[in-house]
Amino acid sequence: MLNIVLFGPPGAGKGTQAENIKENYNLVHLSTGDIFRKNIGESTDLGVLAKSYIDKGELVPDEVTIKMLESEVNRYKDVNGFIFDGFPRTTEQANALDVFLKSIGTEVTKMVALNVPEKELVSRLLNRGKESGRTDDQDENIISNRIKVYEKNTAVLADFYDAQSKLENVNGLGSVEQVTKRIYNAIDN
Ligand code: AMP
Repeated sequence: MLNIVLFGPPGAGKGTQAENIKENYNLVHLSTGDIFRKNIGESTDLGVLAKSYIDKGELVPDEVTIKMLESEVNRYKDVNGFIFDGFPRTTEQANALDVFLKSIGTEVTKMVALNVPEKELVSRLLNRGKESGRTDDQDENIISNRIKVYEKNTAVLADFYDAQSKLENVNGLGSVEQVTKRIYNAIDN
């Protein structure tokens, strides 16, 4: 299986790029943010809980997020692999993912990290907020908290995968097509 962790701060372009990668390598795209938003739209218990964190730009608790991700992966049998978009976001999630994938006879192949400077992230997120209606992309305080949470809890995961020789850094600036090409190179390399 080919299992890619697509990594980077909010606004780095993970969702956009995941759609391209998915087509090219015939993978299942799992975005924890999208799954939470679907649950919010359907007013499930999970959605109500997730919303209380998402609205503040905080992370949904690990236990809930890990359980949800594992049950999503379990829905798919005989697939080429997965793109994990927005997961893992903490060391606990990364450890859980390693253990879980091992239990089903596979592992993370590579982490592709999209590198984008903070100033660019904020302007991309505010633009996306105008188009998508995502409330967490419309409020500069929520955006700044999400970037802070990323720096504090999530950024360290690059080291986690680097220690396993699985980290591929990709420049996330430029056109969507340019970045997609760089990602293909990183995956094929
Ligand atoms: P995203 O669509 O990836 O930007 O995620 C939107 C929001 O969903 C985040 O700001 C978090 O509140 C929540 N979220 C998404 N993925 C995770 C995760 N792996 N762990 C905790 N919270 C998450």
